[in-house]
Amino acid sequence: MNDKQKQRSFEDIPEALRDIRVSHKSSSVNPKLIMIGLGGLVIMILGISGIMILVSSLSQPNTVSVEPTPSPTPTPSPETVENILGHLPYEEADPNQLKGITNDGRIKLRTKAADGFLRMQRDARASGIILTPISGFRTVQEQEYLFFEIKRQRNQDTRKRAEVSAPPRYSEHHTGYAIDIGDGQVPATHLSENFEQTPAFRWLENNAAKYSFELSFPRNNPQGISYEPWHWRYVGDPDSLKTFYEAQQLQNKPSQEGNRVN
Ligand SMILES: [Zn+2]
Repeated sequence: MNDKQKQRSFEDIPEALRDIRVSHKSSSVNPKLIMIGLGGLVIMILGISGIMILVSSLSQPNTVSVEPTPSPTPTPSPETVENILGHLPYEEADPNQLKGITNDGRIKLRTKAADGFLRMQRDARASGIILTPISGFRTVQEQEYLFFEIKRQRNQDTRKRAEVSAPPRYSEHHTGYAIDIGDGQVPATHLSENFEQTPAFRWLENNAAKYSFELSFPRNNPQGISYEPWHWRYVGDPDSLKTFYEAQQLQNKPSQEGNRVN
């Protein structure tokens, strides 16, 4: 086909059809352009929204500081505090915080408790009452001997031993705030329930609170521990209060049978 023929063949097509052909041709191009245009638009929208997300995420710290998101409510941990046969755990007092309350210095209490006891003892003496300290601060090691060695010597089973002695780490005596008191004129009642019949016990009942001492295990105490009229504890400062009342709050249900802490 030469050029003339080519031209003719084009000219052979009626004008109306030529227009259609042209318009048809152009309309087959336009969708592509529209597609490209739409694609560009989508990319632009995506780009803008991406920038907006980025900006909002960057500005988020400000939003947080202005309007703090509420912290999730702390889930209360189950209060399963270690508790052996009704005895609660206690920290051993720092030796530097202890002070002797006997002439030989062998029985010690925390300084504040020691001063309180000595004042109480002096005032009791003025009323003819002799308050005899029997036991004060005890180390975990000493309690270990008292519990395991004596248990072995007496051939006691664990439960039986726990009725008369706290296991190591579970004695109020570790704190340096607890003291076993006897009546100097009736030594036979030392560490016995009969101590409650003595003038010393009656005096303590009426006066100990003035010196910030209280009975740790009165009759029918909520801890379910057996009555110990000789065992007193100092609760005259925030630390001692925290030591004993926090421990009580955390305590599990009282045991069925009373346990002697000694
Ligand atoms: Zn005691």
